[in-house]
Amino acid sequence: MKTIVLGAGVIGVATAYYLSERGCDVTVIEREPGVALGTSFGNAGVIAPGYVTPWAAPGMPAKLLKYLLKPTSPLIFRPTLDPAQWRWIARWLRECDLERFRVNKQRMQRIAYYSRACLNAFRETHAFEYGRSQGYLQLFRSDYDLELAQPALAVLRDAGIGYRELDAAACAQVEPGLAWARTKPVAGIYLPDDEAGDCARFTRELRAVCEARGVRFLFDTEIEALAAEGGKVRGVRVRAGRGKLNRREQRRAPTEVLKTSAQTSAEDAAPQTLAADAVIVALGVESAALVAPLGVRVPLYPVKGYSATLPVVDEQKAPRAALMDESLKTAITRFGPYLRVAGTAELGNHRATLREQALQTLMKVLDDWFPHAATPSSAQFWVGRRPMVPDGAPLLGACGVEGLWLNVGHGSTGWAMSMGSGRVVADLVTQHTPEIDLDGLTLARYRRNGH
Ligand SMILES: Cc1cc2nc3c(=O)[nH]c(=O)nc-3n(C[C@H](O)[C@H](O)[C@H](O)COP(=O)(O)OP(=O)(O)OC[C@H]3O[C@@H](n4cnc5c(N)ncnc54)[C@H](O)[C@@H]3O)c2cc1C
Repeated sequence: MKTIVLGAGVIGVATAYYLSERGCDVTVIEREPGVALGTSFGNAGVIAPGYVTPWAAPGMPAKLLKYLLKPTSPLIFRPTLDPAQWRWIARWLRECDLERFRVNKQRMQRIAYYSRACLNAFRETHAFEYGRSQGYLQLFRSDYDLELAQPALAVLRDAGIGYRELDAAACAQVEPGLAWARTKPVAGIYLPDDEAGDCARFTRELRAVCEARGVRFLFDTEIEALAAEGGKVRGVRVRAGRGKLNRREQRRAPTEVLKTSAQTSAEDAAPQTLAADAVIVALGVESAALVAPLGVRVPLYPVKGYSATLPVVDEQKAPRAALMDESLKTAITRFGPYLRVAGTAELGNHRATLREQALQTLMKVLDDWFPHAATPSSAQFWVGRRPMVPDGAPLLGACGVEGLWLNVGHGSTGWAMSMGSGRVVADLVTQHTPEIDLDGLTLARYRRNGH
């Protein structure tokens, strides 16, 4: 079977891997010059199936309103006239109900746990290094934030997922570098089975495995449209040499001047249509625009996030694994000789430009918990856009158009769900029954609700 995967982020490359396992002829198309240069590049790297949680949670609207007025805030909201933004927010608010939250969290955990099982099986045959660490510690700055976490803890308890509630001293036993923290947590929750690793590095290694199996990668190639005929997708119209984003604007040292987005046009080639039996969309935030002309409505909205990557200068005073500042929704993760601080949700801004306020929040979180671990001036900043759906779980598989498949909407936990999502979609495309129940993990849930 001839298949084309659109997008070489972690989701697209994982899908390509499992399609090749199923014996398909696979081509991956990507506008960037390599894999994992979009949202998969600078994320927090956390793989925490026990923790995956919809952002639509009870108490979140009140918490967000509170933060909107603060200078150090995990949330930045820019109201726009875009109706899609308001539709997304209205749906998100409906999903903050306790019962909806429980359902959505269970769906997300189903695919995340499956994904971890797929990753473990993969690691048995492909042992490569990608800055992996074990364990995940959530830190709470206030009783209010601990209170907000109670519904999520109830879901963990009901599912029998192992976690430990810790006081400040016990947090410092798990992460000895916290002994030098400028602030003390009121409590911590430790998930020993969760893990972290550098998503971009993993994806680059996975690309090499794919290529060794005969998967072709077409880089520097812009996907312009789907080629459909008689209600069936027959291929993809692409143009080589287009769409190279100026990535300096997405990643910069603190002193660099911001550049605006620019696309090259001088080297544009004529468009060509590549034929396939199956086309799998894994374009992250850009997926909705590509499928819309075929009448497929995907409620995706980009939510920007930021990260800072710094070399560790004092091993003793640095984190060992992954932590989450639950109050400021900012993660600190250790990748070998580096640490990464990542967080902030910015809604209403489509441009991939850095925002000083968000970068300051990241650096404050680092300074509060690990003030001596790294030199702030060495930070490399990055911005990415999370492909968010209002209720949190991704959209996997068929979308009502023959020959067209989705692997989209992974939001803030796409790395944690990547291998499982790739496996499920490859199974569906090749007409194998997926190993997990897909109820609530497909576009059908939005069709049912009249989207
Ligand atoms: C700050 C931050 C922290 C995060 N932390 C975590 C975490 O700790 N754990 C976790 O699991 N997830 C995390 N995430 C989420 C995770 O990064 C995403 O869910 C995941 O990377 C999405 O992968 P993707 O392959 O769908 O998208 P992408 O990586 O964006 O891949 C899509 C690809 O499609 C290409 N593309 C788009 N349009 C076109 C076109 N027209 N033509 C050609 N190519 C095109 C893009 O260039 C891109 O390479 C975080 C995200 C952010 C922003």
